[in-house]
Order: sequence, then structure tokens, then C-alpha cells
Amino acid sequence: MVRTRSWIVLCLGLLTAGAPAAYAADCPGHPDALGTSRTLVVDPREHPRIGTMQYRETLPLRDHEVVLTFDDGPLPKYSNQVLKMLDDECIKATFFIIGQQAKANPEGVRKLVAAGHTVGTHSMSHPLTFDRMPVEKYEPEINGGIEWTSAAMTDPSKLAPFFRIPGLMRAEGVENYLISRGIQVWSADFPADDWRHVSSDRVYQLAMQRLEAKGKGILLLHDIQARTVAALPKIIRDLKARGYRIVHVVPATADRPATPTTPVEWLLHPPTETTPIARWPAVPNFVFTETRTLPAPALADLNALTEHQPLLPRRTKAQTNIASTLAVPGRDLFAIPEGSVEVLLSTTLSRRAATRMAMAAETPHTAKDKAAKGKAGKMHAPRTAHAAPAGPKHAAQAKNTAPKSTTPTRLATGVKKRA
Ligand SMILES: [Zn+2]
Repeated sequence: MVRTRSWIVLCLGLLTAGAPAAYAADCPGHPDALGTSRTLVVDPREHPRIGTMQYRETLPLRDHEVVLTFDDGPLPKYSNQVLKMLDDECIKATFFIIGQQAKANPEGVRKLVAAGHTVGTHSMSHPLTFDRMPVEKYEPEINGGIEWTSAAMTDPSKLAPFFRIPGLMRAEGVENYLISRGIQVWSADFPADDWRHVSSDRVYQLAMQRLEAKGKGILLLHDIQARTVAALPKIIRDLKARGYRIVHVVPATADRPATPTTPVEWLLHPPTETTPIARWPAVPNFVFTETRTLPAPALADLNALTEHQPLLPRRTKAQTNIASTLAVPGRDLFAIPEGSVEVLLSTTLSRRAATRMAMAAETPHTAKDKAAKGKAGKMHAPRTAHAAPAGPKHAAQAKNTAPKSTTPTRLATGVKKRA
């Protein structure tokens, strides 16, 4: 098992050995360096939100391309170690700076710029409440981070218009504010949970597992964590062994146009020709120009005379007219016509049998009634005693008069008469 695995690793190493070598030439003194395979120039105005952890679009990376990002620094103790490792491998990454960190350690920001990394911002004090902050709160948070980070730079124009919301606590208002200022909102494609209380091995495993699952993307790390510093050499070693390539992302400027891309490249997995949905026409967005011609119904339309009158269905004038012109149907309309079942039966069966049949045909109703009453009587005996007199009285009446007044008796009488 172990031997098989080492063989696979060895084979992978041999297969991909050629790829990093091509970039190592750009890394003097480090022939085995992972290097940076290419620089991607992006225009924040064309693709304002990126990172599939939260958004539809992400950077237009090819398979096995990775963008490394580091948040929350600079914190000299760990940031300097991260910087050294990246330098040794000639890897260019993107750093999202916290304003207060830049204020406390401006030299750390200058080092990043001098090393050629991309520097964006990550708010002033890293509040994890961007998703519920009013504009009066998030505006100074965003601007404070930008001010202090650019103040730390020798050339403030080096600051990239890239922003990552602390804790990825996104909100529509925050995003719209950033976008209105031409700032690109960066989420990520996968984290490595290096801000949690996990081992550096776990950080390395998660980074590689999640990268392998997506095949490419933006990795979210933090250069202020000891476990990240410990995990980074292993991540870099594995990226090299598995043939991944590092992409450096920079913002477009007047003299540096955006890398030409097609919209579909900004999707993590662009739909192929064989995917039916890619060819399905989009549902049109209907725009109603004449909305004013469709007023909301007035209270009067709902048959309410005054606003205090409950909105119950009321007899309309038309209904009243109908009621007054149509006569009440006569009782005999509902009588069962002569010559029905029991009469027919009386020709073949005895008169007594016909009567029984006729009774049976009608009794279920009465029997059920009685049963229900009996049950109710048992169950609610104490309560019925205190109930309105109508209840028990009605029950008693029904019991006494039912056989005489209900239809079966009448029908039986009819049979008798005929016979
Ligand atoms: Zn953060």
C-alpha cells in the first residue's frame, strides 16, 4: 500500500517535473522553485465580485492554476516568515491588509510591495459585522483600511483596488459601495481553516484536498498564524509535486490593460457544448411600461361600505334581484317519487320484506345519529348538564320523534297504502 502510494507520488513527480522547471529559471538561486507561471491583469469594473465561496464568478484561471491570498497582516513575527518562503519560491501572492496592522507596522506593507506582491485591503479594525452594519459604520471601516495601508506605502498608487470583507460577512450594501468606487470584492474559492484551532498538518491537508476538489482557484490563508507558517512549506511542496502553477493577479491600469478573457472563463467550471443548460435561452426580464394603468383595487370594490365594515361577502344588488324573482321551491320537489326501490320490490317480495328493505335503505342515517348522540352523551355527560337547554332537548326530541317523522316511516306507510 505504502509502496504503491510512493510510486504514484514518484510518477506524478516525474510527469510534472518539467512544468515548475520552466518558471524556476525566473528564480535566481532557487532552481527548484515553484515560481509564478503568469500574471493575470483584471479590471474590477468588469468583474466586481469574485470567489465561488460566495459568488458566481471567480478569477479566469486555467486548470491547475492557483492564486495564493493572505489576510489580516502584516504581523512581523509570522508575516516575515511567509514573505521569506514566498521569496525563496519566487511566488507572487495577494495580501489583504488590516488598517490597524498597517498603522502599527508600515514597514511590513512596504516589504510586500518591494517583493512585488499585490496589496489590497481588509478594513480598518476587522469587525465581523459587515453583514449588519449601517453605511455610517462600514464606510469609515473600508476607508480607514485604505488610508492607513496606502499611507504605509512609498508609492500609494501601488495599492490594488481589491477588498476582502472581514470574515466574508458580505452584504449587498457593502458590496455596492465598494463596486461604486471601482473596488473588486474578493471572496475565495476555498479556505484552509487556518484561523481555527487545528494543527498545521490539518491546514495543509485541507488546502490540498479542497484545491484538488476544484482543480484550481483562490486559496484563502492568513499570514498572522503560526500554523499557516508551518503548513506553507508542505503546501508549496505539494503544489509543485502535483503540477500546480501559481498565478499573480494585478489590477488593470491606464498603461496595463486587462488580460483578454471571455465571460465564461470567469466561471469555475464553464458549461460545455454538451451541457444543455448552456444553450437554453435565458428567461427574459419583462419591463412593464404601463404600470399606472393597473391601479390597486379600491376598498369599495371589495363590497365594503365603510372602512370599518368587515370585508365579508355581501349580497350584491344582482343577487338580491335574483332572490326576489325566483320562487321558493315546493316541498314536493324533494319527495322521492312513487315507484322507487321499495315499490319495485313489492312486486317480487312480500309487503313486510319490502318495508324492511325500505327502512334499511334509510336507517343508516338515523342509526349513525343515535350512535353519535350516545357517544357524545357519554363523553360529555357532565358538560351537557350545564349546556344550553337546546342541546339535550333536541336530542330527546330526535329520539322520540325520529321513527314517526323521518322518511322511512312515510315510505313504509306509502308501501302499506299501495299494498
Ligand atoms: Zn480576516
